[in-house]
Amino acid sequence: MAEYKGVIVYGELIEGKLPSITIELLGCGRSLANELSEDLSCVLASDAVGDGPKEAIAFGADRVYTVEDPLLKEYQGDAHIQVAEKLARETSPRIILMGQTSIGRDLAPRLAFRLKTGLSTDCIELSIDPETKLLQQTKPVYGGNAQAIFTCDIMPQIVTIRAKAMSPIERDSSRKGEVIPTKVEIDTSAIKTKIVEKVREEVAGLKLEDAPVIVSGGRGIGGPEPFKTTLKELADLLHGAVGATRPPADHGWVPEAMHIGLTGKIVAPDLYIAIAISGASQHIAGCSGSKTLVAINKDPEANIFREAEFGVIGRYEEVMPAFTQKLQDLLTK
Ligand SMILES: Cc1cc2nc3c(=O)[nH]c(=O)nc-3n(C[C@H](O)[C@H](O)[C@H](O)COP(=O)(O)OP(=O)(O)OC[C@H]3O[C@@H](n4cnc5c(N)ncnc54)[C@H](O)[C@@H]3O)c2cc1C
Repeated sequence: MAEYKGVIVYGELIEGKLPSITIELLGCGRSLANELSEDLSCVLASDAVGDGPKEAIAFGADRVYTVEDPLLKEYQGDAHIQVAEKLARETSPRIILMGQTSIGRDLAPRLAFRLKTGLSTDCIELSIDPETKLLQQTKPVYGGNAQAIFTCDIMPQIVTIRAKAMSPIERDSSRKGEVIPTKVEIDTSAIKTKIVEKVREEVAGLKLEDAPVIVSGGRGIGGPEPFKTTLKELADLLHGAVGATRPPADHGWVPEAMHIGLTGKIVAPDLYIAIAISGASQHIAGCSGSKTLVAINKDPEANIFREAEFGVIGRYEEVMPAFTQKLQDLLTK
């Protein structure tokens, strides 16, 4: 029987660069590998990996397996699963980490099925049980109302991790590591889907997932205009981005890309300002990782006040001008 050892990150590459989620996975993988006194590896698979391996080492990897093939240029599950499976079988890692991204959501369950093991998705905390050495996998359940800790005693243990849930380690370009170019013969007959077109989502200003401050509006905003004026003004002042609950997106008041929650984006900014949002669990599931939540709502019984560190009870039309003005004064002092 294979001896399962080490932690492996299935990294992503966007236009030859490591996205923040992969850097966060490396930070998390590094601390797990240290706790286990084992190695951290990273897989980078694309048509060309560029500086990816060097960066992965600078952010904590001891070893990077690179797989370059034109078939891996765009993410296609049928091709990438072949790489992930081959490397998992050859390297027998104890733990496999992926991002809770469109790639991770597609690849992780396929890999778990092929390796006949379990999977926990959307984890927000990971630790090693000192006695069993098993990975303790914490994830929100019941729409974010509770957290459950899972363990899996079948190896490898596979998890996907929510963006912004883990801290990266500081980049250290003097770190040394090994780069292992790996050949994977991709069976083209197994590729059943073809990418016909790629449409880039146009985002004006900061991407929601990267914004340190999010000013988010709900159905109580009442229409599209205040998102472009009142909320945007506050977001600009705080160098943040505007978000929304699902109803404003459903009504077409804001683009679908701004919708936060269980069926939208998952965000974890330093500051989340929830305006005219009731605080339904499906929305909270997308913003519960925020460091500080401030709520403005006219209903003192609104659930959002149970989630918020700070709250203002009142109609947003009356509260917001004074709120924004006060912040402006404080920021220009
Ligand atoms: C399967 C499923 C998935 C879902 N996924 C998501 C998701 O991903 N994201 C999401 O957001 N929702 C999601 N929902 C919907 C979710 O259940 C709620 O319906 C939604 O989050 C409510 O949005 P809201 O808070 O904007 O609106 P409401 O619940 O209608 O709340 C509006 C709030 O605005 C306040 N208000 C009204 N006027 C003013 C004013 N002038 N000033 C101040 N406050 C005011 C009201 O007091 C109220 O609290 C999902 C639902 C289902 C069933």
